[in-house]
Amino acid sequence: MMQHERLLKVLVIGDLGVGKTSIIKRYVHQVFSQHYRATIGVDFALKVLNWDHRTVVLVVLERRSSLKSWRSSGGQERYGNMTRVYYREAVGALVVFDMTRLSTFQAVLKWKGDLDSKVALSNGKAVPAVLLANKCDQRRHGLCPKLPKLENFSREYGFVGWFETSAKDNTNIDAAMTCLVKNIMYVE
Ligand code: GDP
Repeated sequence: MMQHERLLKVLVIGDLGVGKTSIIKRYVHQVFSQHYRATIGVDFALKVLNWDHRTVVLVVLERRSSLKSWRSSGGQERYGNMTRVYYREAVGALVVFDMTRLSTFQAVLKWKGDLDSKVALSNGKAVPAVLLANKCDQRRHGLCPKLPKLENFSREYGFVGWFETSAKDNTNIDAAMTCLVKNIMYVE
């Protein structure tokens, strides 16, 4: 890799079905499909960006499983090892929930805690994380009523930003990733 290039490993985490694969596909390939694959494993994609006259290669990774199903399907040890490999050298994360399902919002802090306990920047600080309230196109179908104000929530729990997104309608997906990359590049 040439000197002016940067490779950034970015994670997309959150409960099963919140739209992680769809967000990655939308961001990297500009497509959306209703097709649902519940495979357990790691999906990844690459995207090359020009950032401030530098070339940035984003490696976007997703683990297709909730914390719970990893524990039950793989056993504690395997779960632990996989998690360490998955988080290793990550420099940022999108933490996603489905704004029509409250339980996925309640899991957000578990995911953020998992991230912060497994990886940190070389200066010891938490890796930047952006909170995504995905499926905002579904708002009319009943937004979870107990959703606290995300502005306060995200600040209180150390997210560098938050967005209401739709992978389906392509709302704020680029903006969320740009916010994350900006925060990653600024902490250098
Ligand atoms: P993952 O398990 O977190 O990777 O979730 P998927 O990306 O597989 O998405 C789960 C389901 O939600 C699929 O049926 C997607 O088509 C759907 N989905 C994902 N994002 C959106 C969105 O922004 N709006 C709507 N309406 N559906 C979405």
